[in-house]
Formats: sequence, structure tokens, C-alpha cells
Amino acid sequence: MKQSHELGVPVPSKKAYVVRNLKNVSGKQREYIQKKTEYNVFSFPAGLLTVDYLSDSGTTSMTDRQWAAMMLGDESYGRNTGYFCLLEAVRDIFERGDMPSKKIDMILTGEKDTEKLMDEFFLEHIEGGFANGGRFQLIRPNAFILPQGRCAEHVLFGTISRLLFAENPKGKFFIPSNGHFDTTEANIHANRIQPVNLFSESMFDEFPVEDIYKKNPFKGDMDVEKLKRFIEEKGADKIPMIYLTITNNTGAGQPVSLKNMKAVRDIADEYDLPLFYDACRFAENAMFIKEFEDGYSNKSIPEIVKEMFSYCDGFTISFKKDGLANMGGGLFFKDKGTFHKKFSSNEDIGVLFKEMQILCYGNDSYGGMSGRDIMALAVGLYEVVEENYLKDRIGQVRDFAYKLAKKGVPVILPPGGHAVYIDTTEFFEGTGAKIGDFKGVGLTLELIRLYGIRACELGAFAFEWDKKTPEERKGILNFVRFAVPRNAYGPEHIDYTVAAVAELYKNREKIPSVEISRGQQLRLRHFQSGLKPKYL
Ligand SMILES: *Cc1c(COP(=O)(O)O)cnc(C)c1O
Repeated sequence: MKQSHELGVPVPSKKAYVVRNLKNVSGKQREYIQKKTEYNVFSFPAGLLTVDYLSDSGTTSMTDRQWAAMMLGDESYGRNTGYFCLLEAVRDIFERGDMPSKKIDMILTGEKDTEKLMDEFFLEHIEGGFANGGRFQLIRPNAFILPQGRCAEHVLFGTISRLLFAENPKGKFFIPSNGHFDTTEANIHANRIQPVNLFSESMFDEFPVEDIYKKNPFKGDMDVEKLKRFIEEKGADKIPMIYLTITNNTGAGQPVSLKNMKAVRDIADEYDLPLFYDACRFAENAMFIKEFEDGYSNKSIPEIVKEMFSYCDGFTISFKKDGLANMGGGLFFKDKGTFHKKFSSNEDIGVLFKEMQILCYGNDSYGGMSGRDIMALAVGLYEVVEENYLKDRIGQVRDFAYKLAKKGVPVILPPGGHAVYIDTTEFFEGTGAKIGDFKGVGLTLELIRLYGIRACELGAFAFEWDKKTPEERKGILNFVRFAVPRNAYGPEHIDYTVAAVAELYKNREKIPSVEISRGQQLRLRHFQSGLKPKYL
């Protein structure tokens, strides 16, 4: 008889104790709502949808242990208990691999020994990693709690831009990446630095659907040859840092290999440049490495995460991803690392970050988060590196892509860890659609109108094709994204969606093009502009 893992279907890894019932909404009602909300998919009331793939950000269902930890949230203004738990969790997860301290357990289990709590938890002086502790977090702060990822980007790029332009007011600076996320790109731009995407050449390589359970080409990698050429061409002094987005969200959520992280690290070292990660989905990325990169199948996820982060000088992170929590962000850099040294010639860069953190988000022990959210996050950090969870998570997204591909729908293969991406250009091939017709938006509008399913256009419209130069347009990938919330949906949601998308694919000539009726020039306009579908 076969063992459980040999049955050819996933072994269940969780069960639900809380259920939310959905509303019954008719197609006519949705059509009316769309008109009332200017056909902007972000404006459609979520409570009237059937399945919502707009984002995997902050949409996770938390675990029972996370909900339980919220009861231990400490809402004090200075040095709340969660602050210590979170900084310890950051050290455990990003630096300690299979040897975590798990000191959070002292808080979760109500440790009563005051001496022990003082010595081992509250008064530890720690230095040299991503989260200094005690005295050292005051002298050389390097761990910043923030409400979400983009706040970390704002603090980082706002501060370094000020330093760069103070020294060189007429300078032109560039931050190359394997694929900047939209808020990262906008934050870099807003600070007068040029974001540059060096996608892997393999991004659009054909990949046979049968292989998605067996192999992965790590299409999220940065093109290191292009990176080297870019640095040589612009000059290393024009490049404040290199960025790697893990996983590559803009690049169809594709994972980045450890081999690539190492290679980028080597180039960073060669030119003495800091390497930062946009670490939003580090755990999902680690799972891909374990499954598919040579030499890692026997390593634990925590050990892989530890190695990944040994190659970077710092990272920004949205804790709303990776099933971590519903809220939170962070900015961390290695104490006395390349980044720290490069930007601390006059004043310690961490002190400057802290000023901006306090100005915008509150003091350093909570950074705009509530104490209970900090506790949920600290527990979440330990849970997302559990293999059972990750297998289930990535498996669900993979099955989703597999089922769509089997229906002939052009999806990016293999799928990444958090979302399935339709290749919009290919989807409409042969229908005479032009890129400026924003048919990808039309597809998302029809999905809502007919089926109550919300997806997100991330292509010609979101990345502002019409506002860009021919050179900049090359950096745009034309996708419609289905981001899957973690632990929220089951196979019935996936099957319903696959059936709906397949139906629309069959009738793709009837999907309307879309005009921007209001706010064409707005920045980050996909969140705010008004649209108008052109039904034939
Ligand atoms: C979500 C995300 C961000 C921004 O984080 P927020 O918490 O939404 O502000 C940055 N980078 C990537 C890759 C993301 O997915």
C-alpha cells in the first residue's frame, strides 16, 4: 500500500475553525457597483466579491498561535515586550538557522524568573548582526520596525538620497535590481534616483507544464552579466546599492537561486557596493531553493534562509507577505557591514534612519505598529519557515497554474510562490489587441462583472506604458496577476477561478479595451484613476 505522501495529492497540513460566509451578489449588481466605482478594481468593495486575488499582502489568515500571541500584546509606548520578541525572532530567523534561541517562549509561557528574564531577554547587549540589542541598538541602531514595506523603502531611499545629493548635487544615481516592485520603484524615483531592472534573459523561456513539479529554472535571478556591464558603464560611484527582490514579484513572482545571490554578492564585493534584499517572500524563496536547487534538498529551510541572508548587507521587508502577519514592515542592515560603513562617514546612518522613523512612524520600539500586531508577527516569523506550511502554500499556487495551463491559458511557467501570472500579450494574441488598449484591465473587469473574482493588472496600465519612453517601455512586463492569500482559500476557490478564466479565454475577442477617463497623469495611478471599458 502507498504511503500518505505517495498518493499523488497533498497531505492536509491544517484545518479551519473560523469561517466567513460570503454574500450572494448577482452579475447585474456587480455591473452596477463597477459603474459606481469608476471601474477601478481597487475600489470594488471586497465584501461583495466571491474570490479576491488582488494581493497576497496582509490578506493571510493567521494561525491559532498567532491569534493567541496577540493576547500577550503589550501596548506600552517604550520598549514593549513584543519589541524584544521581534528583534530576537529576526536574529533567530535571519541569522541562526537550525540554532534559534526561541526566547520568545519565555514570554509565551509566562516565565516568572525575573533574574532570568533580565539576563536572557530584556537586557541583552547584542551587536554585529541585523538587529543590535540593548545598548548597541541605541549607539548603532540597525533594526527598524515600520507599518509596512514601503515605509521601510521611504526611510531608506529618502535618507540615502539626502546624503548622496548633499555630496553631489548634480549627480545621477542608479539602483539596479532583478526587478523592482512598484512601490520600491516609486520610492526610488521620488527620491531622484533611477531604478533599473535587469531581469533574467530566461524570464520568457518556454517551460513545459509537465515539468512544474520537477524542476525550476529560477527565472527570478538577476542577469549578472548585465549587472557587471551596467556598473562598468555608469561607474560604481553612481550606484549607491544593488537590490535583489526575493522572490521577484514584478518578475512574475519567480524565485532567485542561492547561486545568483552569491554571484551578485561577488560583484558587489568587487566594486565595494552594498547589496540589499527586498526580502518580502524570503521563506517561499527558500522553499524553492530546497526543492529545486542542486545541493540543498537535505538542508532545512532555516539553514537555507541563514545562507541567503549571509550574502546581503541589509534588507527591507513587508511583513504582510509570506504569511507572516496582516501588518508590518522592517528595515535591517548588518552592523558594521558594507552598507553601514559606506553611508556613515559623517553621521551613523542608523541614527539618521531612526530620526526619520520617529518623525514619520513613532518611536523605535513600535514603529507605527500595535503591540499585539508585533506579537503576531514575531510568532509568524517562526511559522513561515515550517516546511509543511510552505509545501502547502507553494503547492496550491502550483496546482492553480497547472490547471490554467491545462486549459490552454497562457500563464508564466513555472509559477512563482505567491501568484499566478497570465501573460496578457499572449492571452490576446491574434485578436488585434494593442498594448495601449489595456486589455489586461479589461480582463480583470470582466472577471469581476461576470464571476465576482478580483485579479490585478500589473502591466501596460499599472507600469504606465503610455507615459514612458521607448527605452523605459522595455522594462515593462505585461501581466495579469492572481495573488493567492495564504491559508484563506481551498481547492473550490481555485477550481471556480480556473473555470471562469478558461471561459473568458475562450471568448477573449469580447473582452473590452479600456480607457483612462480620469487621472491618466497621476503617479501610482492604478490605485486611484477612473476607467472606462469600451464594450463593443
Ligand atoms: C508588497 C511589497 C512591497 C511593499 O510592501 P508594503 O507592505 O505593501 O508596503 C515591496 N516589495 C515587494 C516585493 C512587495 O511584494
